[in-house]
Parts: sequence; structure tokens; C-alpha cells
Amino acid sequence: MSIASSSHATVRAVLGSLFHTPEYGSFELLERALLELDDAGFIERVTLPGDAGYDERVAAARAADELDPGSLLELTDGRYGLPGFVDLHVHAPQWPQAGVALDEPLDVWLDQRTFPLEARFSDPFFAHGVSLDLAETFLSRGTTTALYFGSAHLEGSWELARACTEAGQRAVVGKVVMDDPAANHDFYRDASPEQALADTEEFLGRVAGLDRELRAGDPRFAGVYAAVTPRFIPSCTDEVLSGLGKMAAEHGAYIQSHCNEGEWEHGVAPERYGVSDARALADFGLLGPRSVMAHCTYMDEADTELFRETGTAVAHCPISNAYFANSACPVRRMREHGVKIGLGTDVSGGFSPSLYDNIRQAVMASRMLEDGVDALVPIERRGAGRPSRISVAEALYLATKGGAEALSLPVGSFEVGRAFDMQVVDVRRPYADLTGFDVFTEPGDVLARILYLATPDNIRQVWVQGRQVIDRG
Ligand SMILES: [Zn+2]
Repeated sequence: MSIASSSHATVRAVLGSLFHTPEYGSFELLERALLELDDAGFIERVTLPGDAGYDERVAAARAADELDPGSLLELTDGRYGLPGFVDLHVHAPQWPQAGVALDEPLDVWLDQRTFPLEARFSDPFFAHGVSLDLAETFLSRGTTTALYFGSAHLEGSWELARACTEAGQRAVVGKVVMDDPAANHDFYRDASPEQALADTEEFLGRVAGLDRELRAGDPRFAGVYAAVTPRFIPSCTDEVLSGLGKMAAEHGAYIQSHCNEGEWEHGVAPERYGVSDARALADFGLLGPRSVMAHCTYMDEADTELFRETGTAVAHCPISNAYFANSACPVRRMREHGVKIGLGTDVSGGFSPSLYDNIRQAVMASRMLEDGVDALVPIERRGAGRPSRISVAEALYLATKGGAEALSLPVGSFEVGRAFDMQVVDVRRPYADLTGFDVFTEPGDVLARILYLATPDNIRQVWVQGRQVIDRG
């Protein structure tokens, strides 16, 4: 893997065959499309063969490329562009733990492995190294935007924000708040509610400053944003929860947390407040159009309506759910109700840094939810009792435009006005050939094979807002 240097020519136009999902439920193949980009790396025109002026525009882009080599990116045969993915839920400090101890129950997993590991983010050098490796790994898997939990440390989370900008990944980053001494280890928590709020305020200011500075120096800088990040209700005091809600409103900041995750977690709020986890978060001012809540597997009708009404988005983490949620997320029910949903890896409750793996699991989990899994239960009572399955194209939407909607960012498809975030998939790699002997060549079949079978080796180039960040030839 190599991170391309900024010495590359500025790409002004892209010519190639591109898959995307502008609408939920279907996909489009833009064959031999010409995208023209503005100075800031946004798509300003899409021209297709047969459109007026197509031949002239392609000729002009080629002529410009003669003068300024690299200004036209032309995808050769066997290569397809897909929108960069948006990962809505990641714990950056847990990256070294991916795949570790997943046979343990959640409390053992957290207490013996996760919290001691996250505590190591007190060392800025360690924090920076882990964060940079994770951001680069994500980019190499096609993930161009990510919403991250940092650690409970101000400096460690700051290193994460800086590392994402160095890797060239668009990022929304939060300093985690977990201040309740009764619920957290002394070796890893905020010193007090006051300190947690002060550190969060400082973090919001620093990240906004970093974004301003980098944006001023590079029109194609993809952006770094801060999120107010209470870990979840069980680890926070009421004082900090209401303080964070107010602070997010004052700054117009993103908010992220966990909601209605598993049997234990979703039971805490009813015991403490007499209302659901979702209702309690809303009462603290933590649900709204800038909020993304991870998991949301235990969503009754009232919770679902609350999410729709407040514009709160769900980060669906299907691999993690199989380990820690004790249930499958009702994606289809929530989508039909008008709730915004995208996908998250939940590194490292989810072991994989790839949204391809999560697209696959999202489809499989939805089918298991619909049909049920225990053959000893009669079939009519085995499943969820309502249509629950989603298609692989719908899962692609979740990984791209669904994530874009959740974060209100103009990314996730090849439409005019969106940032040019693209992964180039080569279907003809040795040992990872996706052509299938050219037996099934309909666009839907080609896309399905890419989504189900692509490996990291198939992803040859990645672009974030018109800047190349991965170049494997
Ligand atoms: Zn999580």
C-alpha cells in the first residue's frame, strides 16, 4: 500500500464505468461516463454516451491530459468505479484488538481487553501510530469517510483526528466521555464531569481549527469534524449527559453514542429513568439531525418514531451485532419507517475493517431475521413474522449514500454536487478474478460479484474528494 504524494497532477475529469445507488432499492451502471470535477474535487458535470456534447467533452479531456498528464483518469476495461464507503461506527483505539477474544462474554471482553487497550491512548505516539494505520487500512478497503470514537483522552483523540487528515481520509472524530466513577475503572475514565465537559469543548475547538487551517491550504481537503461522544448512558453521569447535549446544540456538533444495543445495555435506561434508552438520550438533547447512534437493534415502534421525528441516524453494525447485540437489527422496518441508516464496522466489536464484509453480513443477517434460525421452532413462528430481508444493492446504498445522509455530507454517489470519492475495483486480479468466465455479464451480476467476492487486492486506487490516497497501480 502506498499513500500517493501530492505531486500527482490534479484530476479534472474521469472517464469510466461506474456503479452507484442514487436511490435506495436499485443501482445504476454509468457506462463510459465522463465526470468533470471542479477545483475543490466535487463533481460538476456527468455526461454519458449519447448525451449532447459527449464526444467533444471526452476529446477535450484527452487533449487537456496531453498538456497536463494525469488530469484525466481513464479506467481501463475490467475496472469499475464504486463510490467510497462511509463507515458510521469505529473505535479507533480498539484496532489492535480486532479479532481478539470474541469468544468471551462482553464484560470480560471489555474489562480485560478493551479498556486496558484503550487506556494506552494516553500515549500520543501509540495513539498516532494506531490511528494512522487504521485510517490507511480503511482507505485501502475503499472507506473514504469514517465516524470515529477516539479514547477518553483529549490528546489521544486529537492524535486520531490528525492521523486521519494525514492519511487523507474524511473523518468525524469524538473524544469519548465516560465519567461515572461507579461504572468505569479508575485507570480509564474522565476525572470528573467538569473535566469531561472541558476536554470535549477543547476538542471541538481544536478540530474546528485544524479543519479551517487545512481547508485554507488545500481546496481539495476532505474535512475533519468533531463529534460529541458520550460512550453510552451506562458509563456517564446525568450531569455530563445533559452538559454534552447542551454543548452539541451550541456548537452544532455531531453527536455519536450507542443506543439499544444488547440485552444488558438497552435495559439500563429503563431501570435508571423509567424510559427507553432512545427516549433517555433524546431527553438529554442527544438525538437530532446531527446524531448517529450505533446498533439500535432493540427498537420498538416508539423508539423508531423518535428516531424519525428527530432525524437521528442509525449506524448498523451487522458483524458486531452477531457477537454482542443478542439480536439482528430490523433495518428494513426502520428504513420503511423513514429512519436514516448507514453501515458501521464497529472495529473491534466487529472484527473486520472492511465494509464489504459488513455489506455481506447485513444481507445475511436480514435474511436470518426474516426466516429465523432455530429449525426446532415451527417455520410460521421461527422468523420475525414480517419481510425483513434486504438486497445486496440496498446494502451498498447503506454503505454509501445511507452513510452520507446520516452525516449530512455530499458524498456517496456520482451525482453532480457530490465530492469525488471513488474506489477503483479491478475484476481481473490474479487469484481474485471476479469475471466468472464472462458467463454472467449483466450489470447486476457484475456488481453482485464485486460486492460479494472482492478482496482488498481488487481495490487498486482510492480517491477522496479528487485526491488520490491509494495507488496500487
Ligand atoms: Zn461501539
